[in-house]
Amino acid sequence: MREPTPPNEPVVLIIAGYDPSGGGGVLADLRAARACQVRAVAAVTAVTAQNTFEISRMTPVPADTLRAQLDLLAREFPIGAVKLGMLGTAELAGVVGDFLRALPPDLPVVLDPVLVATAGLELFDSERLPALTGLLPLCSLVTPNLPELGALTGGRTDTEEDRRQGARFLLARGARAVLVKGGHGLGDLVVDELVTASEVVGFTHPRLPGPKVRGTGCFLATAIACGLGRGMPLTGAIDAARARILEALASAWFPGGRNGLMSDL
Ligand code: PLP
Repeated sequence: MREPTPPNEPVVLIIAGYDPSGGGGVLADLRAARACQVRAVAAVTAVTAQNTFEISRMTPVPADTLRAQLDLLAREFPIGAVKLGMLGTAELAGVVGDFLRALPPDLPVVLDPVLVATAGLELFDSERLPALTGLLPLCSLVTPNLPELGALTGGRTDTEEDRRQGARFLLARGARAVLVKGGHGLGDLVVDELVTASEVVGFTHPRLPGPKVRGTGCFLATAIACGLGRGMPLTGAIDAARARILEALASAWFPGGRNGLMSDL
């Protein structure tokens, strides 16, 4: 007989899109949870059709389908943290908002505001961004890259001051903390900055050479959610997540297409 897992071992709930190549979305998120040795369950918001060269389609699931997934998961699993990835449409963002409002207010929620696929297709309706920013008061942390920060705030992201101003714009709309990811910036150093009401903390690493590896944003947000779910403080969870990413990148997989992918191996 197998021993049952302790019933209250918390799991991370991932709410994100499905990318069948595993570059981004729930497959990348599950890999991150596994790297953090945290159990995860995943509700799917949309199905995309893509490989490492291109994305041809994004089909949101019906709102009821997302609601049903969330309802059954929450009924059974002790959720210790939530990671939000691609939400697809304003309607699905609304379903997620209703679901989060029914959870304890101190539950860690990390939002990776996925807007556009690396291969170019819109993954959230750009006309309805307020539906996404409307979730900010429910989030412990939001992790925009520079294009996402620009789109969410309508502001520039060229200088350090621009980025901090953008982060403060998101704080003013209710996020408790913003991690601005600098990977799309220029220069040999990548600087990510955590901005809260009381501090700015920088996380720096050298820009890695070679082809771009997809899924780092998905991986990072999930790994941070795993740390927060375990009760780590925010900066500790970010540090630990960055360490896990560097390990995962060391075994990245280059199947021959346009981008590398995070690998399980
Ligand atoms: N989530 C899903 C389902 C996606 O399809 C994508 C991108 O295509 C992402 C997230 C974002 O991942 P990335 O920024 O690596 O393209």
